[in-house]
Amino acid sequence: MAAAARDPVTDRCPGALVLHEAADGGLARIRLPGGLIAGGTLVALAELAESFGPRGAVELTSRGNLQLRGVPAGRHLELADRVAELGLLPSATHERVRNIVAAPFAGLVGTASGGGAADSSLDGLVRALDLGLCADPDLAGLSGRFLFGLDDASGAVAALAPDAWAAPLAADRWWVGPGGVAVDGPAVVAELLAAARGFLRAAADATVGAAPAGHPIWRVRDLPDGGVALAAALRAGRPAVARPEPPPGPRPVGVWRRPDGGQAGAALVPLGRLSRAGAEMLAAAGQDVDPAQTSLRVTPWRSVVVPRLADPASFVPAARRAGLDPESQSLWARVTACAGRPGCASALADVRADAAHAVAAGRLTPAFAARPAPPGARAHWSGCARRCGRPAGSYVDIVAGPDGYLVHAAGAEPKESSRW
Ligand code: SF4
Repeated sequence: MAAAARDPVTDRCPGALVLHEAADGGLARIRLPGGLIAGGTLVALAELAESFGPRGAVELTSRGNLQLRGVPAGRHLELADRVAELGLLPSATHERVRNIVAAPFAGLVGTASGGGAADSSLDGLVRALDLGLCADPDLAGLSGRFLFGLDDASGAVAALAPDAWAAPLAADRWWVGPGGVAVDGPAVVAELLAAARGFLRAAADATVGAAPAGHPIWRVRDLPDGGVALAAALRAGRPAVARPEPPPGPRPVGVWRRPDGGQAGAALVPLGRLSRAGAEMLAAAGQDVDPAQTSLRVTPWRSVVVPRLADPASFVPAARRAGLDPESQSLWARVTACAGRPGCASALADVRADAAHAVAAGRLTPAFAARPAPPGARAHWSGCARRCGRPAGSYVDIVAGPDGYLVHAAGAEPKESSRW
């Protein structure tokens, strides 16, 4: 049953134990359920990446995970040991399926009465879901692309199109998809795990007798009917409930006041590449006496949230000094890029350097682009037509070709990089 969803031949999502061999060395992906990480752990990963040499780097992904790039061939085992020591490898069998994205601003924005109890309790749900996932041997058969989501009233996670996700309704009632049912808070985790098991069964059924060259069933939307029958089976006679569709909530950058009166901070990490100095600054910004204990949230938008600031006045200047961007109007909030050269052998350009030059000049697009990007537009730079890491929704598509960049408007489903 499990193998139907994770085909070991085609599903090559890297992890901490199975690395992808990129043009600039090994690439390990470390799952951070809910984007949660202690400051000391983030610093330790940055130090490890630095020890790999000039190609070593910590990168933030579009699902709020981390990647270590440039891992030398002889250090894969050491990397796995270190990641396990840091508590980031609780299950060798499930490491690549611990894909849980949670709304990173839950409990940190809105009003004390409007945020809701559900918003502030996501961390507990994340941990319970992760434990339940890792405790089920069958769920190790999910593909590395299957995504769980836990939303808040912002709808931020729904926009990432998870496969199985929950969003608050009211008074500790939750909507859970893809079945589209309403359950009480204590039932959310069980409902999500049941959805994943149902998906594995549906994927296995759809795979029986299918042509070997058929499209792999990695996600709910890959099912032949797009998941319609799965949703009906998951409802099991319960009434279908309309999915909450709140207006988009804020994604603050800089310093802001939390509903409880304290202050939180967030900084953009340009192109998701986090230096040791940046990691140390974020760890030190928290209220905890020991920076190693600072709870941080890595967002799917290449930023890091410090939920409780020790010294709000120093956050912005310290972030700038560390190479982070704490400006709410920064273009870096709207620019993404694939690995490009030298990380990817398929790349026709160093898209990250070119994107950085454009942003430094106050642009989203190459200087030659005939039309400026519309106000508020996003842009994604790709080293080839594969467009790895492209964002959800509409964006300005900048693709390197043999004769330079092509620039046009595009839209796409969210997709974590699948090739490097
Ligand atoms: S789009 Fe993907 S395959 Fe193409 S250059 Fe970028 S990372 Fe490589």
